[in-house]
Amino acid sequence: MSLFSAVEMAPRDPILGLNEQFNADTNPAKVNLGVGVYFDDNGKLPLLQCVLAAEKAMMDAPKPHGYLPIDGIAAYDAAVKALVFGADSEPVKSGRIATIQALGGTGGLKVGADFLKKLNPKAKVLISDPSWENHRALFTNAGFTVESYRYYDAATRSLDFAGMLADLNAAAAGTVVVLHACCHNPTGYDISPAQWDQVIAAVKAKNLVPFLDMAYQGFGYGLTEDGAVIGKFVAAGLLFFVATSFSKSFSLYGERVGALSVLCDNKEEASRVLSQLKIVIRTNYSNPPSHGGAIVAAVLGTPELRALWEKELGEMRVRIKAMRQKLVDGLKAAGIKQDMSFITQQIGMFSYSGLSKDQMVRLRSEFGVYGTDTGRMCVAALNSKNIDYVCASIAKV
Ligand code: PLP
Repeated sequence: MSLFSAVEMAPRDPILGLNEQFNADTNPAKVNLGVGVYFDDNGKLPLLQCVLAAEKAMMDAPKPHGYLPIDGIAAYDAAVKALVFGADSEPVKSGRIATIQALGGTGGLKVGADFLKKLNPKAKVLISDPSWENHRALFTNAGFTVESYRYYDAATRSLDFAGMLADLNAAAAGTVVVLHACCHNPTGYDISPAQWDQVIAAVKAKNLVPFLDMAYQGFGYGLTEDGAVIGKFVAAGLLFFVATSFSKSFSLYGERVGALSVLCDNKEEASRVLSQLKIVIRTNYSNPPSHGGAIVAAVLGTPELRALWEKELGEMRVRIKAMRQKLVDGLKAAGIKQDMSFITQQIGMFSYSGLSKDQMVRLRSEFGVYGTDTGRMCVAALNSKNIDYVCASIAKV
């Protein structure tokens, strides 16, 4: 009898499991549209020039590898605040934001979840239906009961905004509401600025706790445009959480660079909140890794590198949009009669294709085209070489 004989096999992560299946597939024409990663037109993971320049500068002036402070690099945290809230915004100027460097966007969500659990142990968490797979698991593991608010209506292939609003209005005071700040994953459908106003009014009226997940700032309409929703929450006088991820926007996936920002009522409150976030970090992983944070801090803090980053991010955004259009045109050319133009109305890295589970399974097994069973495809992994094959495969299923 082993200590571990009663340990059950956990289910595979639905997306990373798909990756393993893709890697094992011997079909030479295979295309991976499963995982949320941006690839360039050659199907390669990009190394951004701004990142390379920052790394070269570090190599030219090597430093020993000391511990970072618990909350990370001060210049990094300051740069995140400026990016998320606006450098000249009132919250930045008044010093009422508590920001910590986190292990990716996931780490920001987790530190926030653990802090919230201590703050209000009985609160429920609401996530969108559907949402990024890890939202439910992460908040459940932090000890919360996780339920969902209506978001997407598969039958009409559009947002169920009335349902969303009704569910928010029915939530108990103190409920934590996880909202995708932009580029909703997995559907690709964002609510409009006017709809955000209504969501904010409901959150305020019902005393809900907003937790904005911003994993794709810059992939929708632009850095400022995508960040505008933060300004709306500030203007409404709300206090809230924001998880930031630089995994996609800097193509720094493996360096685990993200952040959590908590907007507080005043500076003194922010310092108390920060002290509690630091306890969460200290008792989990002690302090964050330095390399990715140092790169992002250098790029955001150096005007030429910052301009280069914005240019490169813009190129990624434009390429994804071009691929959406090519997908719509290609599907039409491949003989699909149905209007697929909804793909160009979606935003960010993903498209909810509307394909059924059976069709997605056939795409994988017969054609080596990998997307999730829900019909989600990563448009950011399409390129001029694989798009025709993907369109022809979709047409066949
Ligand atoms: N939140 C959403 C909505 C995401 O799609 C992702 C990544 O796919 C994350 C958070 C996590 O990002 P990171 O890899 O930086 O942890």
